[in-house]
Amino acid sequence: MDYSVARRRMVDQQISARGIVDQRVLEVMLAIPRHLFVEVGLQGHAYGDASLPIGEKQTISQPYMVAAMTAALELQGDERILEIGTGSGYQTAVLSKLVKRVYSIERIAVLAGRARKILDQLQLSNINIKVADGTVGWADQAPFAGILVAAGSPDVPTRYLEQLDIGGKLVLPVGDQDQQILTRITRQEDGRFKREKLMGCRFVPLIGEQGWQLETVS
Ligand code: SAH
Repeated sequence: MDYSVARRRMVDQQISARGIVDQRVLEVMLAIPRHLFVEVGLQGHAYGDASLPIGEKQTISQPYMVAAMTAALELQGDERILEIGTGSGYQTAVLSKLVKRVYSIERIAVLAGRARKILDQLQLSNINIKVADGTVGWADQAPFAGILVAAGSPDVPTRYLEQLDIGGKLVLPVGDQDQQILTRITRQEDGRFKREKLMGCRFVPLIGEQGWQLETVS
């Protein structure tokens, strides 16, 4: 199978067609080999319009959702970004091509290890991954120009707001465990936070101190 053809179709039909116009995002989605981030048996589905299982009851996000969240950060290229929920590492790879440095936190060690391996193979060297509870952010490295949360949160964890630079953007799904609203929060120069609802979405739960408690997750 020629994956570059499948990737072109993915970008045209799922991403451009739904209104993503950020040229840099489109180019990166055309370039990153998404099939390498799923198990061999699912590689033929890697460019389909859906999320896919990656083990440990977790999923690689739908391509359109990756593009939409990335575009919502309005990246220029010189940013330091925090990502919560490394998962397969696909979103991490996309971000790494668009910014100066990506700090990514994953709570499940095997997923972080697998992601690290693929990202190294692709020679993406501007990524720091740590295994930890990402709901408290990464205080040592703050502030960030952008924070992207790839798991659904019951509320907006206050640490993310504290760790956002002035002008910085936080993109995260907020809602219950079944469905959420993708929300963008911008830290304005006057110190206030502007809050925008972008679209409905469905993510696996953000589990941790400032998210869902593990016992409540099915
Ligand atoms: N962007 C990833 C999405 C993975 S799904 C991809 O496309 O592959 C969300 C990930 O968030 C899961 O791997 C899950 O383990 C992780 N996660 C959930 N709660 C977390 C927390 N508190 N800290 C860090 N990672 C968390």
